Amino acid sequence: MNEFNVVILGCGGYIGSHLLDRLLAKDGVSVSGWDLENRKIEQHLDDPRLRFHLADLGSTQSLAELEKEIDAADAVINLAAICNPAEYNTEPLRVLKANLFDLQPVIDLCAAAGKWIIHFSTSEVYGRTLSSYIPSDGEVRDDHFVLREDSTPLIMGPVKNQRWTYASAKQVVERLIFAHHYESGMPFTIVRPLNFFGPRMDYLPGHDGEGIPRVLASFMSALIDGKPMQLVDGGTARRTILSIDDAMDAVMLMLERPEQARNQIFNLGNPHNEVTISELAQTMRRVYASITGDPSFGRHPIVSVPAEDFYGPGYEDCDRRMPSIENARKQLDWSPTKSLEQTLLETMADYHATYVCSSAAAPARRPEA
Ligand code: UDP
Repeated sequence: MNEFNVVILGCGGYIGSHLLDRLLAKDGVSVSGWDLENRKIEQHLDDPRLRFHLADLGSTQSLAELEKEIDAADAVINLAAICNPAEYNTEPLRVLKANLFDLQPVIDLCAAAGKWIIHFSTSEVYGRTLSSYIPSDGEVRDDHFVLREDSTPLIMGPVKNQRWTYASAKQVVERLIFAHHYESGMPFTIVRPLNFFGPRMDYLPGHDGEGIPRVLASFMSALIDGKPMQLVDGGTARRTILSIDDAMDAVMLMLERPEQARNQIFNLGNPHNEVTISELAQTMRRVYASITGDPSFGRHPIVSVPAEDFYGPGYEDCDRRMPSIENARKQLDWSPTKSLEQTLLETMADYHATYVCSSAAAPARRPEA
């Protein structure tokens, strides 16, 4: 990459921290990075090629400063988001503000400057699959559940199910970006991530945060702190798990091949790594037994809890996320390489090293069984 200057909004989060690792390993790259926090990127803060702004995108002052950075950039990558399902139905106004209203002026600035925006959206824009509405004795075809960027409809539940505040905010942002492209030619790339798993994904409650993190950290927290792993509504929902390393390979290819990446929507997921959440829990406890060398983790308690008890009213699950990745294959020559087992092993070993081995205060406790 020759002399590439990029603005990254949300560079201090999980995906942003991995992206900075990749970008700053290259010569000729400079980054204007924006975030509300920087704990995950401390190793990069002294790098002169990173101009880090500890700032809230919702403030007018940030916007004025951001405008100058956008004018000087080759591309703008948006990773700023609240993307934790536990907050969609409990803090819907915050979710709408961060994921939609704070972003609109930034997208408008990109459009005015004609800058390439690479926006991280979400696989949740697909909502529920058509197959989830087909009676159990009905015929299910693959286009009832395979998610294709350019043909699958986006299906969300009713307004009272506030789980969909996030998905609808993200959908409007996709449509806003597409509208700018249509009306003024703003180049864009929309990325729809499907369950990227890797180190630094989420906090562990009681260690470095409070609340309900996403499923990887929820299950890690149960294993590390000796609590049962909780399956929401029995854990029948399905997810495909993509290693963060595979995901970052795809993003780097987009930056290296702008002609192929521009004006495209890409699902980034691994169709070979599909599991039910119940299978995920069972696999994680087995992998953790091998990481710790303690076979009793293989019998770690797993319980089922009603969704309303776990997340509160207004939660509704995405039943299945099976991506077509043909577009990323075709345009970027990308396909994922890491199996579920390998992804879990690498990710869980990192969590174990961070929260158990390096923390005298938090030894792995025995399950309460
Ligand atoms: N889930 C679960 N137990 C947990 C946390 C999450 O069963 O402790 C379920 C959740 O209901 C969903 C899936 O795991 O079906 C994935 O949840 P996550 O929070 O990772 O986000 P999502 O994939 O829905 O965006």
